[in-house]
Amino acid sequence: MKREKPKLVSEDGVRHDGRRLDELRPVKMEVGVLSNASGSAYVEFGKTRVIAAVYGPREPPQRYMVLPHRAVLRCRYHMAPFSTDERKNPAPSRREIEISKVIREALEPVVMSEAFPRTSIDVFIEVISADGGTRTAALNAASLALADAGVPMRDLVAAVAVGKVDGYLVLDIDQVEDNYGEADMPVAMAPSLNMVTLLQLNGVLSPQEFSQALNLALKGVNEVYKLQKETLRNKYLVRVE
Ligand code: ADP
Repeated sequence: MKREKPKLVSEDGVRHDGRRLDELRPVKMEVGVLSNASGSAYVEFGKTRVIAAVYGPREPPQRYMVLPHRAVLRCRYHMAPFSTDERKNPAPSRREIEISKVIREALEPVVMSEAFPRTSIDVFIEVISADGGTRTAALNAASLALADAGVPMRDLVAAVAVGKVDGYLVLDIDQVEDNYGEADMPVAMAPSLNMVTLLQLNGVLSPQEFSQALNLALKGVNEVYKLQKETLRNKYLVRVE
């Protein structure tokens, strides 16, 4: 039976959860949430919740991984079996393998891996609740956890997804908007380097919509970046009277 597509944006531009078109979900961020990792972070975008842990720079578990001139960055994105409404098979899916790879590639330009030859820096990301935009939440958490671990970085990576829903471009799409929408475009940037480190597009946008979507993503990325910096500042700023 074909399910009817619900109306997700009203005529006056209000989304199904009450947000404006260019509004993020309520965001929470915290660093240093795990005691056993070198660095960690918790990030929440509405009902999407992820946790990231960083180990290293450390001697790689397998010697063949060693690179003589820089650290190896390894990333694992994983959805917990309890993160979805139907239990997710805990074995890594093709989707999780792909997302792990794009997350690594999105972080590599900012991590100063050349400072730690012959080591590995391992980033583990666990999605504990999935409601759309998990890869972008994962990147935001990974970047905070790397900073929390004291890994030297050229910049933070901040990410958000823009979607097209009922013909409107909307910021930070959730699961329902992703399921029924016409397009989903996750974007990650190193804002101070003015560098896009991840851009994917699922669906169809016209060239004009694409450039509008990119501008909307840029606005979201800058808001996320500000929150990331505030989170780190709140944890590490020491006031000297
Ligand atoms: P992202 O989470 O980055 O938006 P996708 O567009 O691939 O990545 O997925 C959209 C959403 O679909 C996810 O955030 C999650 O809520 C849901 N989802 C993905 N994989 C599964 C799965 N195996 N079981 C249930 N829901 C899933």
